[in-house]
Amino acid sequence: MTAKKPRLPGIHCPHCGERSIVRDSVQVTPIVRELRLTCDNIDCGHYFVAQLSVIRTVRPSARPNPDIHLPNGNWTAPPANDDAPPPANDERPPAAQDSTTRAAPLSG
Ligand SMILES: [Zn+2]
Repeated sequence: MTAKKPRLPGIHCPHCGERSIVRDSVQVTPIVRELRLTCDNIDCGHYFVAQLSVIRTVRPSARPNPDIHLPNGNWTAPPANDDAPPPANDERPPAAQDSTTRAAPLSG
C-alpha cells in the first residue's frame, strides 16, 4: 500500500474559475510566501501572484522565535482583538477614566 500524498491547498483562477498551478514561490518574510501561479485553462492563460501568510498560532512553538509575534486563536475562529486601542473619540465620563489621569490627593 502506498502512502497518500497530502494535497496542497490551491487557489482557482480569479477570472475563469479553473484550477491554477503554482509555478514558483519566494519567501518574502518569515510569515509570508509569495506564490506565482498560472491558470490551467489554456483559453484563459492568466498568470498571477498570491500570498500565503501565517496569521495566528493554534499551539505555541516549543522553539519560539523572539522576532515572531502572532495572535493566539484556534483552527477556525480568529483571535479576540484584546490589543485594540480605544477609539480616538472615546468620550467616557471622568469617573470611568484611568485613575492615573486624576490628581494625587494632597497630604499633610
Ligand atoms: Zn483562468
